[in-house]
Amino acid sequence: MPNILFAARPERWTLYEPHLREALAEAGLAHAVLTTEADPSEVDYIVYAPNGPVTDFTPYTRLKAVLNLWAGVEDVVGNDTLKAPLARMVDYGLTEGMVEWVTGHTLRHHLGMDAHIHGQDGVWRAGIVPPLARDRTVAILGLGALGSGCAAALAGLGFHVTGWSRTPKQIEGVRTEHGPDGLQDILKSAEIVTLLLPDTPATENTLNADTLSLMPRGAVILNPGRGALIDDDALLAALDSGGIGHATLDTFRIEPLPADHPFWAHPKVTVTPHIASETRVESAARVIVENIRRGEAGQPFLHLVDRTLGY
Ligand code: NDP
Repeated sequence: MPNILFAARPERWTLYEPHLREALAEAGLAHAVLTTEADPSEVDYIVYAPNGPVTDFTPYTRLKAVLNLWAGVEDVVGNDTLKAPLARMVDYGLTEGMVEWVTGHTLRHHLGMDAHIHGQDGVWRAGIVPPLARDRTVAILGLGALGSGCAAALAGLGFHVTGWSRTPKQIEGVRTEHGPDGLQDILKSAEIVTLLLPDTPATENTLNADTLSLMPRGAVILNPGRGALIDDDALLAALDSGGIGHATLDTFRIEPLPADHPFWAHPKVTVTPHIASETRVESAARVIVENIRRGEAGQPFLHLVDRTLGY
């Protein structure tokens, strides 16, 4: 009988409990003990989110796995007290939400919507028709669960889509590159760049003064990935010089973004408060329970994190 500790903020328990119980019953694990408090030495699985009650995993001596509620694991991956396998969240609801956010913000810039939303001044500016998607190159940095979904959706709309990852990838309708040289190649042609990389030592400041300068003048950046992927000062300088035309930022080095941060007031920055997407309770509960089922059946866990790579 597996003991499952739900170690996240209490309000999440109210949301998750019924869906976890339903999924456990569907998986034939209705007898599992699902709780928010347990003797650490008797816990088999921890359902984990940052800022919850567990920071030291040492007392959890029979832990079979930690199942992260979020896609990003930067808050737990470096925890030396964690010896058990760590799985991250790959949830189709989370992916759907991200695809919609990235598609929406890409279309905003592609179609030049701001000119009409902010420009109702009585002047009839005829003749400026938006280009077709097939004449626009958009790049996705990070071709994992989220990035590959966004790349496929944008390719489906007709965009010329390029993508970059650590290891080689093949996605239908997407030109892919990998490694440091591949990044330079991708950025040189990218008119709209979306960052969906994880926050790791290797990805910090992926966009910096050097890489920003490779992009076509006036290119747009969308960052629903993580704040640390961009050198903030280099981005502000590139926006001020016109090298970069606009940045729509959903993630920041410090969240909430401090009220006096220059991003808030910058005319070429759109701030969204880390809402690009989120784990969806119903589908995520099934992902969590599938991994518990696998653990109990002696099968390999899904979505395991490589602790040395940090994602
Ligand atoms: P995955 O782990 O599935 O994908 C990560 C991608 O990044 C992979 O393609 C990987 O390459 C690539 N990558 C990692 N390191 C490097 C590197 N050094 N150089 C080049 N490419 C690299 O993650 P997800 O797609 O599930 O999520 C991506 C991120 O999105 C999360 O880590 C999180 O930070 C963010 N996120 C943001 C949300 C929001 O609301 N703003 C919501 C959810 C997630 P490879 O394929 O070769 O391994």
